[in-house]
Amino acid sequence: EAVRAGQKFYYYQDGADDAHLRKLQITARLQHAIEHGNFELFYQPQLSLLTGEIEGMEALIRWKDETLGSVFPDEFIPLAEESGLISDVTRWVVGRVREDCMALASTGKPIEISINLSAKDILDTEMLAMLTEAAVKDLPAGCSLAYEITETALVADAHAARENLLLLKNAGIHLSMDDFGTGFSSLSQLKMLPVSKLKIDKSFVMKLASDCDDQNIVEAILGLAKALKLSVVAEGVEDATAMSMLDNWGCQSIQGYHLARPMPVTEALVWLENYRQK
Ligand code: C2E
Ligand code: CA
Ligand code: CA
Ligand code: CA
Repeated sequence: EAVRAGQKFYYYQDGADDAHLRKLQITARLQHAIEHGNFELFYQPQLSLLTGEIEGMEALIRWKDETLGSVFPDEFIPLAEESGLISDVTRWVVGRVREDCMALASTGKPIEISINLSAKDILDTEMLAMLTEAAVKDLPAGCSLAYEITETALVADAHAARENLLLLKNAGIHLSMDDFGTGFSSLSQLKMLPVSKLKIDKSFVMKLASDCDDQNIVEAILGLAKALKLSVVAEGVEDATAMSMLDNWGCQSIQGYHLARPMPVTEALVWLENYRQK
């Protein structure tokens, strides 16, 4: 028993070291990626169920490192936040979206590009000024920027976060509450926040067609959003059944593999043109 316990302890330590080492490696390589701009942006379309038009695209970062291979944002974004590198990542994303905007807007109809922000971005005054300017200054006609924030982003300093979001809103910028339903925000907090949209987290949407609990949760969120006059985007829509359920319940927009996967900008452009010709 003592030996087994000893072994377990040993293996545990070993695993913890591996995880720690990977974190250090990622953080070091992230620094390198920022210096060299070694990221890519993928775009995932958002469909308005009210008009049938593609109203926007969410920008999602991709990183393929020479030594680590592909690292997904769920793994490196939290490390970028911990190490203070996130503001550089956000700056890169905003810069690239502004470059891609020209092409995305040239397809004829207005399009809104949504950018994911971190809690740290919202509490950083300099960043806030940059985010405001990026969304209001010299964008090609037909293209606008919007920002997505998570509920957890607001926990750190709810008051400051609210004040800062209000500055963005007053500059005419659209804000969405991302991953709604998974965080800690209370309803009273939600009422006070200057967001115009909720994004229902994909964990409630992916199995919508078969899961009664998820159906009840999603209907309840839609009712709540209606009472608060917020528009709703359901993310993680993976099949036609989920899409028609959401449509019947009055959900305004959808995003998910059923419509399209995130794509590089050139592919997104071709996709957009094909979609509109159908
Ligand atoms: P998120 O903002 O909730 O983004 C949605 C995620 O769901 C994306 O994962 C997207 O590829 C994935 N997805 C879209 N449709 C479906 C679907 O139908 N089914 C399933 N199973 N998944 C779907 P991705 O691109 O790996 O990004 C993960 C998270 O990383 C994002 O979650 C966001 O929190 C963060 N992230 C991504 N790009 C950025 C960025 O530029 N800045 C910041 N701060 N965070 C980012
Ligand atoms: Ca998002
Ligand atoms: Ca989300
Ligand atoms: Ca998420």
